[in-house]
Amino acid sequence: MATTSFSKKMPGVDATEPALTPPPANAPATNFPKKPKLSSKPRKRDIPEGLWTKCPKCATMLFDKELDENLKVCARCQHHFPIGARERIHSLVETCSFEEMDADMVSVDVLNFTGVASYTSKLQSYQKSTGLKDAVITGFGNIGGQRTALGVMDFSFLGGSMGSVVGEKLSRMIERATERGLPCIIISTSGGARMYEGMFSLMQMAKTCAALAYHAKSKLPYISILTHPTTAGVMASYASIGDLIIAEPGAMIGFAGPRVIKDTTQAELPPGFQTAEFLLDRGLVDTIIARKDMKASLIDYLGYMTSSQGWPGIGS
Ligand SMILES: [Zn+2]
Repeated sequence: MATTSFSKKMPGVDATEPALTPPPANAPATNFPKKPKLSSKPRKRDIPEGLWTKCPKCATMLFDKELDENLKVCARCQHHFPIGARERIHSLVETCSFEEMDADMVSVDVLNFTGVASYTSKLQSYQKSTGLKDAVITGFGNIGGQRTALGVMDFSFLGGSMGSVVGEKLSRMIERATERGLPCIIISTSGGARMYEGMFSLMQMAKTCAALAYHAKSKLPYISILTHPTTAGVMASYASIGDLIIAEPGAMIGFAGPRVIKDTTQAELPPGFQTAEFLLDRGLVDTIIARKDMKASLIDYLGYMTSSQGWPGIGS
């Protein structure tokens, strides 16, 4: 029979399902007319891709332009989406006041690391896809009237992992802030240390903290801002030692992830474990501030912390 010899073939799918319609009797067997791809789920119609984003929390379809204008926060449920380092800097500092440091610093593959792909090729592909050289942007800018050092991490570059470039750029920025007698703000988002650099990435934990210790010794304020997610080596170093620790709403903050902890301890984790709100209750986080209020809050905090009454290192 003609219909039994004709079956739909799709890569990865067992070719057992009969075709919906038999081919014309006179059509050659290998030259079927092209049909739209069939899939088990109907495609959404009339929604061009790249214009809308579905909120993972409240499932509202958000117009990308409005999402961008709202600093990547869902207007309905206030879910905070990831935001790029440059957009975040733009949202915080006064126009044209940002002076970037070490913009061209790039990692080298000291271990000659090769897994599924080589570290060098991964670096190149992330540099191309993100337009960043590595996972942090550092520099000095004005927030309100206060000049401040500002380091902002970007999760889209290799999961915001801390390698030698992230550590070195942050350390140089902190040291420059110490020399200039200025406060420091670091906005973290990270999956942890960059294992492609082995011990060189772990060394950054001590290096950044040492630079911050000298900054603190000069009695200058350091504000750490934790955004979703801030984990592992970054949380275990500079992210958790701010004089003031601010978190964004709903941010996942911790050392190991909840699944690893659950598997290790074999214990049920409490609801909301490792969220910013959970850690605020337990004192690890000082305050939670929504992204839209971050600039105004930082102006207030910096105003207090850099006044001679508020912070001993400045104005004394
Ligand atoms: Zn939402």
